[in-house]
Amino acid sequence: MSHRLRSKTAWVFDLDGTLTNPVHDFAHMRSALGMAENADILQTIAETKGAQRALLTQQLDKLEAHYAARASAAIGVEKLIAQLVKRNCLLGIFTRNTKEMALLSLQAIGVAQYFDSDFIIGRDQAPHKPNPVGLTQLLQQWQVQVSDAVMVGDFRFDLEAGRAAGTATVHIAKDEQRWPELTDYYYSSLVQLSADLAG
Ligand SMILES: [Mg+2]
Repeated sequence: MSHRLRSKTAWVFDLDGTLTNPVHDFAHMRSALGMAENADILQTIAETKGAQRALLTQQLDKLEAHYAARASAAIGVEKLIAQLVKRNCLLGIFTRNTKEMALLSLQAIGVAQYFDSDFIIGRDQAPHKPNPVGLTQLLQQWQVQVSDAVMVGDFRFDLEAGRAAGTATVHIAKDEQRWPELTDYYYSSLVQLSADLAG
C-alpha cells in the first residue's frame, strides 16, 4: 500500500497538530471568543458581520499568536521533511491559521528552511478547509496532477479537502477518532509515515 504513497511527488501538510504537537485548546478558544461548544470558529466568524467580525478576528489572531509561540515539533517531523526534500518532492502547507502564524510555527519547530513561503496557504490566501480551493490552487501553481499529490493532516477538514481536490489523503493521529471513508493511509505518527516511505 505504501508503494503508491512513495511515488507521490507533491506533499501538502496541515500544520497545527500535524507537524506540531496539538496545543490548541479549541474549547478554551471558543469560550474566549464567546462561541458555542463545537462551533466552527472560522465559519462562525465568516458568518458574523461588521465590527463584531473585526473584533473576533483580532481576538482570534491574538489567541493563535499565543499558540504559535508555543509550537513544539511533532516527533519525526524534521526527518520526514528532509526525506521528502531528498526525493525532490514539492512541499506545501495548507492551514486554517494565518500564513504569518504558520511561518512562526515552522520556525519554532525548526523546519521553516524547507518551505517556500509562496507555498504556504493560510486563511487569507484561500477559503478555509474543508474547502479544497487552496489545495487545488497549490497544485495548479506547481503544475502537478492530483494523482501525484497527497494531503496530510490530523483532522477531518484536512481529509475532506484532500478528497474534494482528488488527492490521496493521509491521516496522522494518536487519538481514537478515525474517518476511514476519508482516509487512504493512516499512521499514528510522522515517524511511522517516514519509516513506511523509507521501507
Ligand atoms: Mg490540524
